[in-house]
Amino acid sequence: MSLLKAAGAETGSLPRQRELYNCLTCDRKYSYKTTLSRHLKFECGKAPRFQCSLCNYRSAQKNNVLRHIRSYHGALHPSPTVLDLTYTNFGIV
Ligand SMILES: [Zn+2]
Ligand SMILES: [Zn+2]
Repeated sequence: MSLLKAAGAETGSLPRQRELYNCLTCDRKYSYKTTLSRHLKFECGKAPRFQCSLCNYRSAQKNNVLRHIRSYHGALHPSPTVLDLTYTNFGIV
């Protein structure tokens, strides 16, 4: 016997999530208002302060660099680290 019911089978009939919010500064598009506001707060117009220690990949968000390291470099050793350029000679005031 099965207690599980197939819920959400009608998901396919929903309209596709559209990118409703776009940044007026850099024209990026986001599906959620919270994502856009996070972009405005942490990314837009900001110098990318975090950099991968193995390559020149940079992002304003540390999580993006961590994700890049995992997906792009995989399980390398020694472990790549995220460099915080704020404390380097990057010229951020
Ligand atoms: Zn922007
Ligand atoms: Zn990298």
